[in-house]
Amino acid sequence: MPWPTTNDDELFSIIDAEVERQNRTVQLIASENFASPAVLRATGSVLTNKYSEGYPGKRYYGGNEVIDRVEDLARERVTALFGADHANVQPHSGANANMAVYLAVLNPGDRVLGMRLDQGGHLTHGSPVNASGILFDFASYGVTPSDERIDFDQVRDLAKQHQPKIIVAGATAYPRIIDPAPFREIADEVGALFMFDAAHIAGLIAAGVHPNPVPYADIVTFTTHKTLRGPRGGCILSTAEHAEKIDKAVFPGLQGGPLDHVVAAKAVAFHEAADPSFADYGQAVVANAAALAEGLAGHGLRLVSGGTDNHLVLVDLRSLDEDLSGKKARLALDRAGISLNENTVPDDPRPPYITSGLRIGAPAVTTQGMGPEQMGTIADLIHRTLVGRDDEAEIAAVRAEVHALCSEFEPYPDLAR
Ligand SMILES: *Cc1c(COP(=O)(O)O)cnc(C)c1O
Repeated sequence: MPWPTTNDDELFSIIDAEVERQNRTVQLIASENFASPAVLRATGSVLTNKYSEGYPGKRYYGGNEVIDRVEDLARERVTALFGADHANVQPHSGANANMAVYLAVLNPGDRVLGMRLDQGGHLTHGSPVNASGILFDFASYGVTPSDERIDFDQVRDLAKQHQPKIIVAGATAYPRIIDPAPFREIADEVGALFMFDAAHIAGLIAAGVHPNPVPYADIVTFTTHKTLRGPRGGCILSTAEHAEKIDKAVFPGLQGGPLDHVVAAKAVAFHEAADPSFADYGQAVVANAAALAEGLAGHGLRLVSGGTDNHLVLVDLRSLDEDLSGKKARLALDRAGISLNENTVPDDPRPPYITSGLRIGAPAVTTQGMGPEQMGTIADLIHRTLVGRDDEAEIAAVRAEVHALCSEFEPYPDLAR
């Protein structure tokens, strides 16, 4: 066919550069992962061409008999995976999944209780710069200063005081298990709905290494691209009671046509997560995060809450050097070929774009086959970079070691040019 772009070298050489970056540097961003070739194949399929506003059997466009099978399969697989009554697989992202839930069960101005951003919560849990905080009246809980774990006394007190319509659990930078049971209890005490945002930990839940919130929560949202290792996107699980409202909130409430190629790739990821090997993956992620924690603590770095029981660690850089901000540290590590993000620590005196901490995650390095031994090496390389951040020769030496390490564990050797 006479398409003019079969050889768009200008663009595809840029994608090749990204393949090389992913193959040759260490990816420690806790919300990232490497999707499988099957997920990539579905994402790059002709399903991107189709318009299918509506749901299987109730579409506003013709020609959806094949797409209906894709979406039905995705819904069947994900409800079986997590034991949910109902699933909506159309949200384009985790943020959209959360907004759709709010749209489904709240009116503008209604009260909600969520976790504070600077204590580990997410922008969509009521930040004043996010639509959630602009449209709804959020109160927020945090962690207990002494152990840096969720302060359930505060959750209960705030719930009684604010009488929220929804209590939101879930976090973007919290290194510990989030027990859904006390949230359910508190929600029942004040007559609130309980929503669990499992964006980061959906893969750990599927793998059986984190408690499943589905039996406790009215609604569970998550992203499909973090520990779950699928395409970028969101998903909403709910009890049968909330199914219709949620479907209407996603479409026509918030979105137009679904991304059918991404829905297909979600179905692939749900299938992969149901494979027995995915439980091994989840256990390896937790073991690797623990090994990273041990290695970093061994260099005298203070870890928020003293360690981890999930896929990430939060480092308080003030324990190494009061002058070293998260941003400065991240920029130095980037030069050394180690990719991660700065993050606030609880009660951080610095603003969110500077911060005093680093968030370090094990999902991607685990996917590429690294184990506890490599985590020890990576902890050493991180420490060397932080200490030698102003010494370009040291940064270059670390970068060479990073390349040597990664060359043994390339995630996409077949895509390299
Ligand atoms: C990542 C994340 C989201 C948002 O997901 P996007 O796909 O980036 O919109 C929502 N909630 C939590 C807790 C997250 O970690």
